[in-house]
Amino acid sequence: MMNLIFIGAPGAGKGTQAKNLAAKFSLYHLSTGDMLRDIAKAQGPLAEKVRETIGTGALISDDLMVELVAEKVDAGDFKKGVIMDGFPRTLNQAKLFDSMLKLKGMVVDHVIYLSIPDEVLIDRITGRFTCGSCGEGYHDRYKSLKTEGVCDVCGSQSFVRRADDTREVLDTRLKNFWNATRELLDYYKAKGILEEVDGLGEIAEVQDRIENIWQPQGGVQSC
Ligand code: AMP
Repeated sequence: MMNLIFIGAPGAGKGTQAKNLAAKFSLYHLSTGDMLRDIAKAQGPLAEKVRETIGTGALISDDLMVELVAEKVDAGDFKKGVIMDGFPRTLNQAKLFDSMLKLKGMVVDHVIYLSIPDEVLIDRITGRFTCGSCGEGYHDRYKSLKTEGVCDVCGSQSFVRRADDTREVLDTRLKNFWNATRELLDYYKAKGILEEVDGLGEIAEVQDRIENIWQPQGGVQSC
């Protein structure tokens, strides 16, 4: 069993890497951004609050985030190991997450920090979209559809662009990311479990770099 945290600015590729690696190693993938976007689709005060906060690029309160993640831990979703994508995002969340895992006899094994220069992040984010049916990710400039208007994977013709992927909201998201992340990285560095990975390059190349962290000899280890 392996518990991993992926940290990366918006557009660093952590969602793509988390999804691919979770599938490959049969780990549970918890994207808190996806979880919140699902909540935001519902009706009621919670949905409205989440919609409003995400829409401005601000962070959801630590209390609510910890409550939502604790529900997953309590439900036993992390039993076979997990890749956390987007949580923890503040030092407070990190400390509360450690306590939550400790109660279940679990620890964080590796924290992968995908580093990418800001100008590349902006270029990546303004242009990305996903299939509304299977969730496959595309990009206007870097990964276009083979057939115009049709998903390569499932054939769906509906696509989604995130409402917070605009240049204006992105500036706030990046500012929040850097403000909160510095102390988060220091926290994991002090524990000796932080690994910085160059996030530039092809998806498969970056994936190899990440896998090398727990398979340094390139051999296959049981996870
Ligand atoms: P993401 O998909 O990870 O870029 O997250 C999208 C948005 O969801 C963020 O801009 C925040 O508003 C919110 N969010 C996701 N994860 C967290 C978290 N751990 N703490 C606070 N807000 C979060």
